[in-house]
Amino acid sequence: EQSLLVQAEKLRVAGQLAAGIAHEIRNPLTAIKGFLKLIRTNYKEQYLEVVSEEIDRIEEILTELLVLAKPNKEQIEQVDMTQTLKQIVTLLEPQANLQNIAFEVNYAADRANILCDENQLKQAFINFLKNAFEAMPEGGTVKIQTANVGDRLQIEFIDGGVGIPPDKLNNLGDPFFTTKESGTGLGFMVSKKIIEDHNGELTVRSAVGKGTIIRALFPIVVE
Ligand code: ADP
Ligand code: MG
Repeated sequence: EQSLLVQAEKLRVAGQLAAGIAHEIRNPLTAIKGFLKLIRTNYKEQYLEVVSEEIDRIEEILTELLVLAKPNKEQIEQVDMTQTLKQIVTLLEPQANLQNIAFEVNYAADRANILCDENQLKQAFINFLKNAFEAMPEGGTVKIQTANVGDRLQIEFIDGGVGIPPDKLNNLGDPFFTTKESGTGLGFMVSKKIIEDHNGELTVRSAVGKGTIIRALFPIVVE
């Protein structure tokens, strides 16, 4: 049972999110309508190109938001996070290579089993790593570390990228907050929601010009 206050807060957040989504989707739609009108009177290949890009943009936004809606059946299982992280590294290694990024991993936690929907957590971790890559346009090292802290599992994603200015740290997790030219500003919010859905605790530390540490702490399964 949720208190009325919590329910009200959730409704407020949903309202803000809805307003943001409407706005973010209306912009490309307006562009699409405008360019279709142009095409009707004066066909140009590059107008079609813009239409296609704007449709991609809408698709990207909807794909990220669908994770929140949990369209796939939730599957909560006991999962060894060390294995999950290894799979993610294998998955992202080709892209990392292309961007001159090396992974440095240290799976120090020997109790790494948690109860989770593995696909959701993978999504969250991939979002963090994508941000890490994008913070290092010249390449560099991304560290992934695990540790047992008390009766919890700590997972850290550490990059040596551009960092986040202190006054922007508060905006992290706000829907559509982005500093990137073609960012969606949804990845972090979605990831945060997933971590919290798993009773996880998320903290971010960052220094401009030095890099960023994303830390998630999860309750572990005790046998
Ligand atoms: P997007 O990546 O589409 O911009 P996100 O929600 O994933 O949206 O991230 C929001 C913003 O947070 C980014 O635009 C960036 O400014 C900042 N950010 C997130 N992660 C990092 C990071 N590892 N290093 C630097 N900035 C980051
Ligand atoms: Mg992102």
